[in-house]
Amino acid sequence: MTSPFRALPSVERVLEQPAIVDLARAYSHEALVGLIREELQGRRSAIAHGGPAPTLERFVESVCMRAAQAWEGFPRRVINATGVILHTNLGRAPLSAAAIHSAAQAAQGYTNLEYDLEQGERGSRQAHVDAILRQVIPGAEAGIAVNNNASAMMLGLAAIAVGKEVIVSRGEAVEIGGGFRIPEVLAQSGAKLVEVGTTNRTYVSDYAAAITEHTGALLKVHASNFRVVGFTSAPATEELVSLGRERGIPVLHDLGSGCLLDTVQFGLAHEPMPQESIAAGIDLAFFSGDKLLGGPQAGIVVGKREMVQRLARHPLARAVRLDKCSLAALTATLLHYVKGDAVRDIPSWRMIAMPLPEVRRRALRLRRAIGPGARLVQGKSTIGAGSLPGETLPTWLVALDAAGAGADALAARLRDGRPPVVGRIQDDRVVLDPRTVLPDEERDLARVAREAMGKG
Ligand SMILES: *Cc1c(COP(=O)(O)O)cnc(C)c1O
Repeated sequence: MTSPFRALPSVERVLEQPAIVDLARAYSHEALVGLIREELQGRRSAIAHGGPAPTLERFVESVCMRAAQAWEGFPRRVINATGVILHTNLGRAPLSAAAIHSAAQAAQGYTNLEYDLEQGERGSRQAHVDAILRQVIPGAEAGIAVNNNASAMMLGLAAIAVGKEVIVSRGEAVEIGGGFRIPEVLAQSGAKLVEVGTTNRTYVSDYAAAITEHTGALLKVHASNFRVVGFTSAPATEELVSLGRERGIPVLHDLGSGCLLDTVQFGLAHEPMPQESIAAGIDLAFFSGDKLLGGPQAGIVVGKREMVQRLARHPLARAVRLDKCSLAALTATLLHYVKGDAVRDIPSWRMIAMPLPEVRRRALRLRRAIGPGARLVQGKSTIGAGSLPGETLPTWLVALDAAGAGADALAARLRDGRPPVVGRIQDDRVVLDPRTVLPDEERDLARVAREAMGKG
């Protein structure tokens, strides 16, 4: 009996197969040989564990699959049918057409990123975003944008309070998700956390009592992704500001979301806004670019000019600076607020503002395109990214009949689609929420759903 190891093809033999010859047109010989060797290695160890040797066809198929996985771009487009508008795992906010155009232009060629065209000399990458932030947030003396809000906080605390104590309410020394814990960020920045009050109630007198000669800042944190309900109390921003003024201590506010529009107009609870913090006299307000602001990943700091400049000049600023494509997308996104067309042009606001009859029309269209096995049910969409926890928007969902396969199996087949579709399971059924599906994705969504339901 010949050894099953001997049934494995040689590298040369595999390279001659038509499917591999096709691959060789797109990828280098070395890359392909590496991939074939990896597959051979895997097969050898399978055989050593008692597995059978594959046929040549199977082997070639496996190499092609390996190539598809290894050389596919990342991240891949997926259709978000979860109804979670700012889904952190799916990349948060989709960009507006203007932001995409702007980022593509910055990517394509050279730009005046750090070049002053009038003077013909080096310029600042922050000057433009500073000017737009001052327009969008009245009263902000200056603003800068960095890599994300976590790094903005790190930079802010390092620049303002290194080696000093930062006073935070015990109810706000929280973990935001994804391992962003206020106490740890403080520790990393070189500042020392001093917690005051209790989880549910903290008074301005608690902050006042904790102030010493070592105090570097008072920090207010918006507890984005959880809510303490019932017997709660926290000082108004204005109270903290006047305490800070009295004692000569900077007051910082981590807002999380960067919500520049009042969410009450969409039937949601009120999400704190940077405009309100600045109006209350906060020294520095910190927020994300890709949560309710609806732009690219970024961290934004606005406030008193002298303090913003301290951040801009700090050595960490260079380490957390924003790249040209994100900066282009961010300024284009902020311009929507200047022009007053944010709700119309920024996809996440459009999704939040989508009237229920429109959601229902889209759900009906989707149900029709999928055909038998799909039906309409009522449900709820959520905001996501830790913004407005517990708040929901009424929606219409398309529930899919798994035809005996089970909801988990159907959801897995949807994720395996081209493009992958991520739905949600509700009452043991896979449901698709049209609110978070971009209009030009509807056809693909219906096709992938039909295929996953075994209707080709
Ligand atoms: C989300 C959030 C952060 C982190 O922001 P990123 O832009 O994701 O880094 C920090 N603080 C609060 C309160 C948040 O909600």
